[in-house]
Amino acid sequence: MNIGENKKNISRYSDARQLKQLFKKVKNLCLVIHPNPDGDAMGSSLGLFNALKENKYRVSVVSPNGYPSFLSFLSGSEKVIQADKEMAKAGKALNTADLIVVMDFNSLPRAENLKEALAETAKPILLIDHHTQPDIPASFWFWDIRATSTCELVYHLIKIIFPSYRFSKKTSQCLYTGTMTDTGSFRFPRVSPGTHGMIKELLESGIRHHEIHEAVYDDYTYDRFQLMALALQKLTLCHHNKAAYIFLTSDELSKFNYKKGDTEGFVNLPLSIKGVVLSGFFMEQDGYIKISLRSKGNVDVNLLARKYMNGGGHKNAAGGKWYGTAEELIRLFKNTISF
Ligand code: 5GP
Ligand code: MN
Repeated sequence: MNIGENKKNISRYSDARQLKQLFKKVKNLCLVIHPNPDGDAMGSSLGLFNALKENKYRVSVVSPNGYPSFLSFLSGSEKVIQADKEMAKAGKALNTADLIVVMDFNSLPRAENLKEALAETAKPILLIDHHTQPDIPASFWFWDIRATSTCELVYHLIKIIFPSYRFSKKTSQCLYTGTMTDTGSFRFPRVSPGTHGMIKELLESGIRHHEIHEAVYDDYTYDRFQLMALALQKLTLCHHNKAAYIFLTSDELSKFNYKKGDTEGFVNLPLSIKGVVLSGFFMEQDGYIKISLRSKGNVDVNLLARKYMNGGGHKNAAGGKWYGTAEELIRLFKNTISF
């Protein structure tokens, strides 16, 4: 990954001098992330939040809704404005900012309850993201699908706008977390020497990486563990054992007192079976079925999610929504799609 290099359909960066000037001019920023924020959405926004605070900016983070409790250890998480509960506060944060930063997503519909506000705003938007096919009216860009995570992009942006900044523990903890979660703990193909170079610098701040891993991954309640056992029992192989899916009904989720984040990572489980290169995790929600897809190698789940499932994401990790029945979705997954 060459930071700053503009490559068609892969990356787009505003000029470094322009970005420096921008951050000399603005004083009040509003960072906006996607609904049901994951480790990368929370880590990248709070990493930038902490670095900006330490450099005397006014800054707020707005999420369309709440975040899972296992991310509440992140520095600044208590400051995240949850628009579904505090729309007036979210609106004020957007209206008083002189720069809006859209992070870890890149299309307006994805912003759900914030999409009108983002579509109508007259404020300049800076997009920091690593998903494919951006569709946001941004004035400033820091977009690269080769990046492991939005956290890695934030790290490079901070290097540009604050060249002498020493990464604090707070900032480092957040950026480490999102990079860790978006790389499956540094195992996915996009992890590069550059990623580990960044991690070296983050670790030099004094953060304890083992505590971060424990906070994120060793946080199961007994109920959540039982729900995972059920998910494993319900795992169904298809496509000659090259694909598998798991479907959980809302009754099953309720039985184990489902809370946001409880099914995080379940979609990866089938990929531990030798030979499985495509995994689908389907979960009944109010009015639709939430879909998560993961793949290995050249199986492009971003295309599948865009074509069939009202969604998108990356080549090997994507998501979407299904508004029909579970039977229809499973039939589609088993019979219609090919890869
Ligand atoms: P997850 O399966 O963890 O919810 O999401 C995997 C990836 O797909 C993430 O990068 C996420 O941003 C993207 N994604 C998840 N759900 C949706 C969706 O409904 N629409 C779009 N465009 N992307 C999604
Ligand atoms: Mn991400």
